[in-house]
Amino acid sequence: MSRGLDTEAQYLKGVGPKLAQGLAKLGLFTVGDVLHYLPRRYEDRRNVPPIRTLRPGDFATVRGLVSEVNSRPTRGGMVILKVTIEDGTGCVGLTWFNQPWVGRKLAAYKGEVVAYGMVKEANYLLEINSPEFELIDEDDDHDQFARIVPVYPLTEGVAQRTVRRACQSAVENYLGGVQDPLTDSFRQTYNLKPLAWCLKQIHQPEEESDRLEARRRLVFEEFLYLQVALAMKRAETQQELGIAFPIPDLIDGKAPPLVASSAAEMRDLTGKMAKAAVVKKVKHSSHLFEPEAEAKYAGVGLWDQIHQMLPFDLTGAQRRVIGEIFRDMERPTPMNRLVQGDVGSGKTAVAAAAMLAAVRSGYQAAMMAPTEILAEQHYANLHALFDPMGIEVVLLVGKQTKTEKTAAGNKTREGTAKIAVGTHALIQEGVAFDRLGFVVIDEQHRFGVLQRAALRGKGLGNPDVLVMTATPIPRTLTMTLYGDLDLSVIDELPPGRKPIKTHWKKPSERSSVYDAVLGLLREGRQAYVVCPMISENEKVAAQAAEDLFERLSTGALAEWRVGLLHGQMKSKEKEAVMLDFRAHKLDVLVSTTVIEVGVDVPNSSVMVIEDANRFGLSQLHQLRGRVGRGQYQSYCVLIADSRTEDGVIRMETMRDTNDGFQIAEADLRLRGPGELAGTKQSGNLDFKIADLVQDGKQLELAREAAIQLIGKDPSLALPEHAAMLEKVKQRREEQAVVTIS
Ligand code: ADP
Ligand code: MG
Repeated sequence: MSRGLDTEAQYLKGVGPKLAQGLAKLGLFTVGDVLHYLPRRYEDRRNVPPIRTLRPGDFATVRGLVSEVNSRPTRGGMVILKVTIEDGTGCVGLTWFNQPWVGRKLAAYKGEVVAYGMVKEANYLLEINSPEFELIDEDDDHDQFARIVPVYPLTEGVAQRTVRRACQSAVENYLGGVQDPLTDSFRQTYNLKPLAWCLKQIHQPEEESDRLEARRRLVFEEFLYLQVALAMKRAETQQELGIAFPIPDLIDGKAPPLVASSAAEMRDLTGKMAKAAVVKKVKHSSHLFEPEAEAKYAGVGLWDQIHQMLPFDLTGAQRRVIGEIFRDMERPTPMNRLVQGDVGSGKTAVAAAAMLAAVRSGYQAAMMAPTEILAEQHYANLHALFDPMGIEVVLLVGKQTKTEKTAAGNKTREGTAKIAVGTHALIQEGVAFDRLGFVVIDEQHRFGVLQRAALRGKGLGNPDVLVMTATPIPRTLTMTLYGDLDLSVIDELPPGRKPIKTHWKKPSERSSVYDAVLGLLREGRQAYVVCPMISENEKVAAQAAEDLFERLSTGALAEWRVGLLHGQMKSKEKEAVMLDFRAHKLDVLVSTTVIEVGVDVPNSSVMVIEDANRFGLSQLHQLRGRVGRGQYQSYCVLIADSRTEDGVIRMETMRDTNDGFQIAEADLRLRGPGELAGTKQSGNLDFKIADLVQDGKQLELAREAAIQLIGKDPSLALPEHAAMLEKVKQRREEQAVVTIS
């Protein structure tokens, strides 16, 4: 008998052709497949304590016969299912809330149940809430006691016993054929056990510590291949030739000091830089300034110009990030940088500074936003900043007339417009640029890889690319989704902001909420009311917004000017409403989530979110970011009748923190990476064993290891890396690596 891992699974002892058909349903065709099929969880049957010995607070596995099944509705409309099990020493209740499928599964069941969870005491009885559980079917191996038993994922018509048997036999007879793609020295460096040993521990664990050790290696390895793929991608980008912007304030590649602690000091610093820039200007005199700006700005350093352009002093974090961007821009390799910052941290100012640098270096810049409202707002902001400096900004969005589009298009093609702002209208065929050198993508997870590439493709050679994300995302996600980008974080809010106070109120308290809103309106503030997201369907959502608008404008807010904004309105109407609200011709804006992104009205100091329970955490945080943008104390009121555990966690998290990164971490734990990223390009997020929620540390280590490895052997060409290269290639093929080029 051959001992190769490509031996068909049917030849495993105890399997045979018939059971092999079942294994094939799980995608297990060869012995190698079987060896790499990983248990979903384990059951520690060495220690199932008698129920009598359980104490509140224990995490325990319990086992017993079902003696009673009881299901009852509560006044709040919840259904509580309580199943009592007994083992001869005592009984324990297992309870589930609103999980009808558990009821269906257990209603007619009379056998044994194994359950795992935290033991509590309620009314002098022991119970476990929402335990993990399994029915002990007749099919189960009864020789599995007193061991840590692997529990494999199954599919219809395949028994746990079959898979267990196959895995056991593969481990017993074929481990010798396992080749480790990681070299001995690599494993030593990162303290990883050999693959064969790990596979044995995974399928037949003896000690929990060994099993965890084995899992750690497999997790590390899985992260490693993706991180190596991303590092190779980054290295490839570094090989390409991009634009070396002659940034006037960077003398000998050094950014100016970024530690000014006061506005005065900053002005002093920029003054010194201005002098230094004169020297630099001689070097790049050919295209440092546009002729018309030459007279006015000659000798004025870039930092000085940035300072003149912005109506406020930059925060330390903004200056640091701008410095990081400038250093990239100055290098001849293309920049690929991601800027993350919480809502309101001032990403737009950072982008504006970078675009100014590009323009002053003789190039054009473009900024792409995911929605028209946002593009228009960026346009309005950037126009106000750049126009006084003689830099023309144009807008390109789908709803413009042909004439408007042609006019804007001509200006970008001829190069009279230095900056273009738009939606994906920017990447339409026919839109061309004279010297596009710098691209900003305000991305909010909405653009695909292809769209980013398309805008980049309109540039000269390889333009520098700056990606800005609207919401902070957890570091583990950044490393997987954007692992090929360099990262800058704006970790400071502009000064003088008062943290938003968030309250969670029950629907029964609604009238007092609107009373409080009225108080703020009387003080001259404005308010947002976000209506519940009843359905994904835009029409239904619009109807809900209209209903709420009717109710409020004839009821609680009858005395005030109330506007309505939803996705079904025509662009012109939406624009008119937004302008009125911004100009304080409206006091209250009733809206669907279309106000989620970018809307900036500093006089608005309160937001009421109706039925807040229907929104995800990150979305709530985004919405809340619309207030607290001015000097006034701002409030966010979540009206929600949260009944589920998740719902309560969401409301409490919102109430207790304003920190976007903390909120993102909580959201990751609640929803998992795929949902949180909200992206179809989640190939990077598919892991067999690794878990982005709990394995963040291994991810960091694997990323470090990948960077080291690619530093030494950029294309994994060394013979000892051949097996690794094979794995990395597989990873790249199976799940297209997300990149922006
Ligand atoms: P983000 O896009 O990161 O959510 P914005 O760029 O829209 O944030 O900035 C939020 C608000 O803060 C805007 O009104 C902007 O003018 C203001 N702002 C940005 N940076 C500063 C700063 N350094 N000092 C004062 N206000 C600032
Ligand atoms: Mg913004």
